[in-house]
Amino acid sequence: METTKPRAHVVIVGGGFAGLGCARRLAKSGDVQVTLIDKNNYHQFQPLLYQVATAELASSNVATSLRQSLRGHANVNVKMAEVMVADPKSRTVTTRDGRSYQGDFLVLAAGSQANFFHTQGAEQYSFPLYSLEDAQRLRSRILAVFEDADRDASVVEKGALNFVIIGGGPTGTELAGALADMINLTMTREYADLAVKRAQVYLVEHGSALLRPFSEKAHAYAAGHLQRKGVRLRLGQAVTHVASDRVGLSDGTSIPTRTVVWAGGLMASALADHSGLSKGHGGRIDVQPDLTVDGFPGVYALGDFANVPGADGQSLPQLASVAQQCGVWTAKNILAEIAGKPRTAFHYHDKGIMAMIGRDAAVAEIGRKRHELDGAMAFAAWLGVHALLMSGVRERIETFIDWAWDYFSRNRPIQVLDRSDENRIDWDEHPEPSVTK
Ligand SMILES: Cc1cc2nc3c(=O)[nH]c(=O)nc-3n(C[C@H](O)[C@H](O)[C@H](O)COP(=O)(O)OP(=O)(O)OC[C@H]3O[C@@H](n4cnc5c(N)ncnc54)[C@H](O)[C@@H]3O)c2cc1C
Repeated sequence: METTKPRAHVVIVGGGFAGLGCARRLAKSGDVQVTLIDKNNYHQFQPLLYQVATAELASSNVATSLRQSLRGHANVNVKMAEVMVADPKSRTVTTRDGRSYQGDFLVLAAGSQANFFHTQGAEQYSFPLYSLEDAQRLRSRILAVFEDADRDASVVEKGALNFVIIGGGPTGTELAGALADMINLTMTREYADLAVKRAQVYLVEHGSALLRPFSEKAHAYAAGHLQRKGVRLRLGQAVTHVASDRVGLSDGTSIPTRTVVWAGGLMASALADHSGLSKGHGGRIDVQPDLTVDGFPGVYALGDFANVPGADGQSLPQLASVAQQCGVWTAKNILAEIAGKPRTAFHYHDKGIMAMIGRDAAVAEIGRKRHELDGAMAFAAWLGVHALLMSGVRERIETFIDWAWDYFSRNRPIQVLDRSDENRIDWDEHPEPSVTK
């Protein structure tokens, strides 16, 4: 009698670019059963979180239901649960509610979280920008300080309209440009009783240039463009501490503020500490060129959760395109293993890097040869590439409508202060003297 071979079970932790990329590829194969576990029931599009935070896009534009993304594939099971522990020897994960999932293959793609580098007060008082919730929380804080300042202009002296962004990489630079546009183009028209021009965006970077992965020309372009929008750059300055009402800098000055955004660094998400695997640079899991973890057959780590070696042996950057391609490659290697074929080393197809610096301004370095673009051409390329990276057609259409609305009307359509309880600020707290430059 003919017996059917049981399908191999693949457990994937994380429905980000890497995990979802892997699940989608495996979903097309009849040889596997997939369980995709994520603490949220949606895939979040991190590159656009800063636009949610600055009221340009709605949360629904950057979050796609995982179930809908994988609908129609009977061999994929989505579970919303937070994985607390992974045992790489048995390829088993255990969730917060005590359930365990064991696979023939285990794919760890749990992404990253903020790395505060032990900066005093940073974890407690700053707003990270790595999840949809972070973006919603930041949006509410930005809107709350405008509302408070509109009712009582004296709080402006206490830094109500000072916005301090820590970290001049792509996230911090993009946010600074978007926030300056929001203040200059939208808030000036909406708060007639408030001297909105007193609002200041500060961008603090301990290195000497913004957008470090880009060329020197792009560094200068970004700095010049932000300064023309009124952003105050604090280059070569480290943040010494963050308090509830100010940020201290290494030159001994401080900036009074109630809105500090942490874009100062990343490390692997907390699961890495409970994965039974040794961690490398950035707290990430070191993997072999084929994305497997040495010494643990059937275990893969990928995307922002791993140090993925590039062709030159150096780790590839934490980018959506790297994560997405890792996901698809992992699926191919798993299917090869099942078919008794050898795994192959991951090859990253580098399409380039880009960053938006605000309305009509972006920098892009396209392809491996890094053809440089800036200005309107780079802006258009940025819009196209990011729309294509989005996973759902609905999200793409809605995002384009919101971008167009924002561009032509100079409005921020999503001015929703939905966390007003969290944003009741005690303006009389810590009345220390402040030093600003
Ligand atoms: C603000 C910002 C802007 C960015 N801009 C760009 C850009 O313009 N271009 C670009 O290429 N890249 C950009 N990136 C980087 C890019 O978003 C990441 O490299 C990419 O998201 C990594 O994908 P990933 O699948 O590894 O992780 P993620 O996308 O972070 O996905 C990880 C998933 O794991 C889940 N998870 C985490 N822990 C657990 C757990 N314990 N249990 C269950 N589930 C868990 C999370 O909910 C999440 O869904 C940006 C990142 C940020 C934060």
